[in-house]
Amino acid sequence: MKFAYDQDVEAFRAEVKTFIKENLPPEEERAKRGYEDGFKTLQDEYDYTMGFQKKLSERDWLAMAWPKEYGGGGASHMRQLVYNEEMAYNAAPSGNMGIAWVGPSLMLYGTEDQKQKFIPRITGADDWWCTLYSEPGAGSDLAALQTRAVRDGDDYVLNGQKIWTSGGHLADWGWLAARTDPDAPKHKGITMFMVDMKSPGVTVRPLINIAGRHGFNEVFFEDVRVPATQVVGEVNRGWYHMAVALDFERSGIQSYAGGRRTVERLVQIARENPDLVKQRKTIRHELADRTIEVVTGTSLAYRVATMQAKGMVPNYEASTSKLFGSELGQRIALTGMHLLGTTGQLRNGSKHEIWDQASSYLQAVSGTVAAGTSEIQRGIIATRGLGLPRG
Ligand SMILES: Cc1cc2nc3c(=O)[nH]c(=O)nc-3n(C[C@H](O)[C@H](O)[C@H](O)COP(=O)(O)OP(=O)(O)OC[C@H]3O[C@@H](n4cnc5c(N)ncnc54)[C@H](O)[C@@H]3O)c2cc1C
Repeated sequence: MKFAYDQDVEAFRAEVKTFIKENLPPEEERAKRGYEDGFKTLQDEYDYTMGFQKKLSERDWLAMAWPKEYGGGGASHMRQLVYNEEMAYNAAPSGNMGIAWVGPSLMLYGTEDQKQKFIPRITGADDWWCTLYSEPGAGSDLAALQTRAVRDGDDYVLNGQKIWTSGGHLADWGWLAARTDPDAPKHKGITMFMVDMKSPGVTVRPLINIAGRHGFNEVFFEDVRVPATQVVGEVNRGWYHMAVALDFERSGIQSYAGGRRTVERLVQIARENPDLVKQRKTIRHELADRTIEVVTGTSLAYRVATMQAKGMVPNYEASTSKLFGSELGQRIALTGMHLLGTTGQLRNGSKHEIWDQASSYLQAVSGTVAAGTSEIQRGIIATRGLGLPRG
């Protein structure tokens, strides 16, 4: 059987590749400027990420999956797939959660005023959005969240703490779930809010991860006033509003495309440094295994995208792709460490540095936690995929 895309999808892939080449600094230059190893200042990171998103926006590519009437690309699932694949392969800056769920929620549940005020700023890359769901006592069991929002005149008053907020330190706006009815069953008393991250009473504290990088934060809310006009959807129905981005391409192709790029680079390093290969005889087999796994995983991602293209809603299939992709990311990073050995710990332009693998290895740890842990994915595969009884 020959796997192939339609010609128009391949033509689109070529267009995306050209765009990336023309608009993203080359890999070596990015590495030199420190983009692979954390930014020198927050402003640098904001400007680099939003600058690239502005360029996508000018082409109507930023919100690739959105309907055209809202400034989106109106792309089919297959176009979204190759777009996401090329962006991830080339490590293009991403992570604007306004595109992922704020805009889609507004399209479905927002008032006319909310749509007019927020949607053009999201598609125009004018605002960086973060997601404020997780709390110290609510992660996998998100409905256990305790941040309270109490109505007071024209406002709601927020009190509570969020955690693991990616990009919270850079965000202009936050997409927040809070409890508005503490007496209702836990899924039924939650409401969605749009919060100006510069509001008085919002404190963002950095959490430095094990690789020494600042990606996520703790966010504290002390008597933060949020106008009631910034409630999205029905009060107390927030739980049901949270899942709206599910119709977008969610194959997990990004982890396989990024993984493929890393394995290719490791193979290149192995070719150029025969001494490294001599030090660890099994590395050839390891690299071959990772290459095969990337291809296998890519097929899992294509399966999800194909289902979506046919109008089906993937369920345990998306969990399978997420699970395999995040665990593969950890195996690839380990293979990188095995190949590079002690030199893999050097960074910041040390003269013996070849490629900093220690940071990637440490960063990969979080892949099996973020966006739903491996145990949660296995639970979904077991119950919905294999039909096993709940434990
Ligand atoms: C890099 C990164 C970025 C993140 N960004 C954001 C963000 O921007 N915004 C946001 O709101 N959150 C974010 N998160 C939080 C993320 O969604 C949670 O970490 C995740 O949902 C797990 O929740 P938890 O950390 O509370 O762990 P817990 O849910 O407390 O899990 C602890 C352990 O128990 C296991 N476990 C829990 N429940 C079950 C179960 N039912 N069956 C079997 N095992 C179970 C888990 O698998 C895990 O091993 C981010 C996390 C990471 C790592």
